[in-house]
Amino acid sequence: MTLAVDVVVRYRKAVTYGVHAVLAALETSGVEHRQLLGVTPEETAAHIAASRADRVLVLWSFYSPDAEAMAAELATVRSLSDGRGLHIAGGVHATAEPQQVIDAGWDLAAIGEGESTIIALVEALRRGEPLTTVPGLAVKDGDGVALRTRPAPQLPLDAFPSFVGRKGPIEITRGCRYTCRFCQTPFMFGGQFRHRSVASVRAHVRGMVEQGLRDVRFITPTSLSYGSPGPDPDLGAVEELLAGVKEELPPHGRVFFGSFPSEVRPEHVTPEAMRLLRRYVANDNLIIGAQSGSDRVLAASGRGHDTSPVRDAVRIAVEHGFRANVDFIFGMPGESEEDQRQSLALAADLAELGARIHTHTFMPLPGTPWRDAEPAFIPLTTMRELDRLAQRGDAYGHWRRQAEHSARLAETAKSYPRRTRRRRTG
Ligand code: SF4
Repeated sequence: MTLAVDVVVRYRKAVTYGVHAVLAALETSGVEHRQLLGVTPEETAAHIAASRADRVLVLWSFYSPDAEAMAAELATVRSLSDGRGLHIAGGVHATAEPQQVIDAGWDLAAIGEGESTIIALVEALRRGEPLTTVPGLAVKDGDGVALRTRPAPQLPLDAFPSFVGRKGPIEITRGCRYTCRFCQTPFMFGGQFRHRSVASVRAHVRGMVEQGLRDVRFITPTSLSYGSPGPDPDLGAVEELLAGVKEELPPHGRVFFGSFPSEVRPEHVTPEAMRLLRRYVANDNLIIGAQSGSDRVLAASGRGHDTSPVRDAVRIAVEHGFRANVDFIFGMPGESEEDQRQSLALAADLAELGARIHTHTFMPLPGTPWRDAEPAFIPLTTMRELDRLAQRGDAYGHWRRQAEHSARLAETAKSYPRRTRRRRTG
C-alpha cells in the first residue's frame, strides 16, 4: 500500500531559484504527490492543517543570515498547524550546519543538492520506508544528534530542469573551480564546473517563449566560464549558448548575460569577450567581482587574481558600452586599515572610470574556510568614505546590514564548533 503525500513549501522570494529546481525535479520524477505553496507562515500552516494526505512534508530553504528568523517562523507554523507535518530545511545553511538546524526545531536537514534527495524522500514517505534510506539527509536521533545518511549524488546539470512552468533565470553552470575563502558555492556544489548543455538551455527558453516570456537570464558562478572546464573562458561555447538562445527567442526577445543574478571575473573581461557580448546581449551593465584593492587580501582570500586585471576590466567594459558594477567586500579576515585604504583608493579610481561600486561586508558564512575567521574591524574613517561614495552615487549596497549579520554569524559559529557531533547512518 502506498501513502498519499502533500508537499507544502514555505515559499519566499529570497530563495526561489533553488526551490524551483527542487520542485521541478519532483514534478518531472513521476513520483505522485501534491505541491502547495505558502507565501506567508499563516498560509503555510493553513495548507498543512487542511491537508488530507497521509504525510505532509514541509520544505524550508534559507540563507545563513536568515536562519534565526526562519526558526521563529517555524515555531509559528507548528503552533498554527497543531504540530502536524514533517519539516525539512534545505539549502546552503542546512547543508553546512545540520546540527544547528535540527536543534532549531526542524525534523530533517537536507545536505547538498536537493533534487535527488527530495525525490527519494517523497518516495520513502509514500512507501512508509525509514528515512535513513534516503541520501543527503540529516535525521535527528533519540538524543537529538543529527545523523547523516549517505551523500546525495552530484549529477550532471541536464539531469534536472532549472524550473517547470515558472519563470526565473536558467541555471547554466553549477559548482565553481575557484576557491574564494568567503564563498559558499564551491562547498555546496563542488569544486568543478558542471555546465548545462546548450540543447537543455534552448529547451528551457522554448518553454518560456510558450508562456509569453521574452527575457532570458542565467544563474552561474562566473558567466564567462560557461562551457569551460578550467580558468580560461571558452568563448566559442559562450557564443554557441548565446546564439542558440537568440534563435529560440522572438525578434523582440532579450538575453541578459554577465549581469544580475550573475557576474563575471575581472580577468575574463577582454575586448574579444566584450565584442561577443555586444552582439547578443541586452544588458547595459556587467557585474564584475573585484572584492578588494589589496593584493595581500586578495591572495589571502584565494581569489585567484590580484588587483591588476580589475582596472583593465572596468576600462574595457566601459569602452564597449557596459556600465561596470564592481563588487567589493570590506572587513575580510586579516584586513588592515592600510588594506582598506587601498580598497577605497581603487574604488575611487574605478568610479572615475565610470564604474559603480557595490559594497559588501565580509560575513563568516557556514561551510566556507572562513566560517570561524574573525571579521576585520571597519573603522569610522572607512565607513565615512563608503558613505561618501554612496552620497556621490558611486556606490550602493547593504554593507551596514551585512555588518550586523556578520557579528551574529560569528557568535553562532562559536557555539557550534566545526566538525563536532557528526555521525553517519544509512
Ligand atoms: S566568489 Fe565566485 S569565483 Fe569565487 S568561489 Fe565563489 S562563485 Fe567561484
